Amino acid sequence: MSLNILSVCAEFAPLVKVGGLADVTSGLARYLHSQGYRVVTLLPRYGEKAMATEGKTLAKGSLLLAGEKIPYSFLQLPDEGTGEVILLDSPALSGADIYSAGDSEARRFLTLSLAAIPLCKALNWRPDVLHCHDWHTAMTLQALRSDPDFKNLKCVLTIHNIGYQGVFPAEVLDETPIELPGTPDDTINFLAAGIDHADAITTVSPTHAAEILTPEYGMGLELQLQQHSKLLTGILNGVDYSYWDPATDELVAANYNADNTADKFGNKQALVRNMGFDSAATPLVGMVTRLVYQKGSDLLVAALPGLFASHELNCVVLGDGDPVYMDALTELAAEYPARLKFVRAYDESLAHQIMAGADILAVPSRYEPCGLTQMYAMRYGTVPVVRKTGGLADSVRHFDPGTGQGTGVVFEDADPGGLAWGLSTALEWFADKALWNRLVNNGMSCDFSWDKQGPEYERLYRNLVT
Ligand code: ADP
Repeated sequence: MSLNILSVCAEFAPLVKVGGLADVTSGLARYLHSQGYRVVTLLPRYGEKAMATEGKTLAKGSLLLAGEKIPYSFLQLPDEGTGEVILLDSPALSGADIYSAGDSEARRFLTLSLAAIPLCKALNWRPDVLHCHDWHTAMTLQALRSDPDFKNLKCVLTIHNIGYQGVFPAEVLDETPIELPGTPDDTINFLAAGIDHADAITTVSPTHAAEILTPEYGMGLELQLQQHSKLLTGILNGVDYSYWDPATDELVAANYNADNTADKFGNKQALVRNMGFDSAATPLVGMVTRLVYQKGSDLLVAALPGLFASHELNCVVLGDGDPVYMDALTELAAEYPARLKFVRAYDESLAHQIMAGADILAVPSRYEPCGLTQMYAMRYGTVPVVRKTGGLADSVRHFDPGTGQGTGVVFEDADPGGLAWGLSTALEWFADKALWNRLVNNGMSCDFSWDKQGPEYERLYRNLVT
């Protein structure tokens, strides 16, 4: 049975990307499309790439939001193998910034949610399943159910990052067709509203599905999630190997695969040269991340001076985000100019070059719903050093030098000592070439493809509609 899936999301790779959400929405759409489902993805036309992209105008119209008439048009993009992709172009949400701050975000994403109804009507189409991603689109279900044509629609809400919930003054819903009780302090939480109305709730790894039921990881939503725990499952994200595979990657210096890992060294040499390090013989630790508290980049800043004193290693960090962490990394790089390079940017090519050129990838997250970089690293023969949480715990197995089993270093404590232990353990193994090659090969032979993970979403959709 073929199903009709409407996916509404804030990011979609490579067009609109800030983090892993983009990789997952496009990777899943590509998989479902390849399996014969009709998948329509609706996302805003914002960010530089999408603003520069043209499409065929499918329909034009206007929405009423807070008494204001908001014009919009739907732009249909050419088929790139990910199903139908529709950009919502509207002065209410389009522009160079993907995310901004403040209550205008509510207006942007309510516009997106409300636009799902006219989109389905313009396509003359009734989806079987609505798949909403994160708080940005968690209101889409309520918007659609306000129309009698969509009363019976089934809805999956995927929580990619519970740390972002979309909390706004309740009045942002005034004069919309969406009716929800506000909280006593007169705020509305978009993600919480989505959780209350979804037919199925998923998060992006089995371990994180258990974690978010606890006060430590539930970010204030744990009791609500406990009430809906029968609807909650964890499905590990897949990897789009058409874009993240060293054998075919067009962004790296030299292609390689598990049978010719020697060519990985060419990538290290290129990266070492580009970054201005002295020698490609020194072990190289990389980190590619949004620089926010969640990702533990401050743990790296705290751990590096001790590691530099006791070990031979160089480190390259690519990241953008919170000025606190950017300043700390800038200062540390100034203190250790030969050993630490900090590239303060969002740079897709460099992200691939670090995956291919580094020996070790540090992922010291305080929490990590799934995490993709550790899975990319393994495919690129770069050994992940991860904290034991969420999807990191589900995707990386701590290596046992005795048996030769395992794919990385998994450390317990989200503190500088935990990370320092993880990195020094990896450096110790790095010194033994035979052991290291075994570890690298174990990671490279892992399969996190959508062919493995996608069927879990198919099962979920089918269970909802039958
Ligand atoms: P999250 O979605 O929480 O940011 P993930 O590990 O799931 O974390 O996904 C991160 C994605 O964003 C990866 O594709 C990674 O390569 C990319 N990324 C993060 N920071 C940068 C950056 N500064 N430059 C380029 N790509 C980045």
